[in-house]
Amino acid sequence: MNKITPQPGIMDIDLYQGGASHVEGLSNVVKLSSNENPFGPSEAAKEAFRKTAFDLHRYPSTDHASLRMAIGEIHGVDASRVVCGVGSDEIIGFLCQGFAGPGDEVIYTEHGFAMYKIYAKANGATPVEVRERERVVDVDAILKACTDRTRLVFIANPNNPTGTMIGEADMIRLANGLPDQALLVIDGAYAEYVEGYDGGIKLVDTRDNVVMTRTFSKLYGLGGLRVGWGYGPQLVADVLNRLRGPFNLSHAALVTAEAAVRDTEWAEKCRADNTRLRAWLAEALAGHGVASDTSTANFILARFADQAEAEACDDYLKSEGLIVRRVAGYNLPHCLRITVGDEPSCRRVAHAVGQFMAGAR
Ligand SMILES: *Cc1c(COP(=O)(O)O)cnc(C)c1O
Repeated sequence: MNKITPQPGIMDIDLYQGGASHVEGLSNVVKLSSNENPFGPSEAAKEAFRKTAFDLHRYPSTDHASLRMAIGEIHGVDASRVVCGVGSDEIIGFLCQGFAGPGDEVIYTEHGFAMYKIYAKANGATPVEVRERERVVDVDAILKACTDRTRLVFIANPNNPTGTMIGEADMIRLANGLPDQALLVIDGAYAEYVEGYDGGIKLVDTRDNVVMTRTFSKLYGLGGLRVGWGYGPQLVADVLNRLRGPFNLSHAALVTAEAAVRDTEWAEKCRADNTRLRAWLAEALAGHGVASDTSTANFILARFADQAEAEACDDYLKSEGLIVRRVAGYNLPHCLRITVGDEPSCRRVAHAVGQFMAGAR
């Protein structure tokens, strides 16, 4: 018998399924499956990245001071409590590693992001899935599910793949109602898309049981570079900084992300374009008989009659060179998640869904 065995929980992990990017035999394919910014990063970010070719022999900064200062300045947070990671995924992983182990419970919701469950299991903790109400996070259900073993509660706000979000009063009620040993993690991967929303900064600054995560992968268009950050109480920052490798972010990642966060004009343009095209796409889909909840992010969750219709539509879109995301793994088998692309892509996908609903299959 083999005595070499992994830690408990690890082999129970279902591997993360990334969005597809190719269709066999087709060129001119549009990828609307990974919530990427269709316009890419700002010119300033690309220029900063190019220059790093001359510094590849140098080790990067270990304290990320320059990027953290920029984040502090632009987002109005205390830079000394910002921790940068290899995508916000790494921050989510550190939170699980730092605060949840065997015997502890990690709460996330019915249609919540896949990585919460993966990292909970990776650290031997018990994942606890709480139902939502009509694809919206249900604060009462979460509070009811809390026990004296609950250590972490993950909420993406806006949520992926539903696109819905809960308001400030609900979030405060949740933070207030958690047991003393539990930390609320507000995942703000899509926070920048919501006009006037601080992503939870005020809550972090006024309480000691709230952490926020953010990313450069969505609005800032840097998914390929892998940069995210967390912001929380001093204790949480101290824990994450002890788990983090000293050189977790490359020099290229650090300087490119800094240029991206400082280019507020580009961020504003991308936000405005997304808001406009998202409204257009939702209305076009509704016109073809495909409903969706009002999205606050850079994608739309299109609802079909049942799983068979959603899958048939996905197959048809694929045959037309349009890649969207199946979300059966998020307990939404009758839905497809469609990223808001640029205007031609939005038109193409709306037209193809229309053709499908009119009988093309
Ligand atoms: C995309 C996404 C992330 C993280 O992405 P990174 O690229 O690792 O920063 C985190 N949470 C949610 C809900 C997401 O959709």
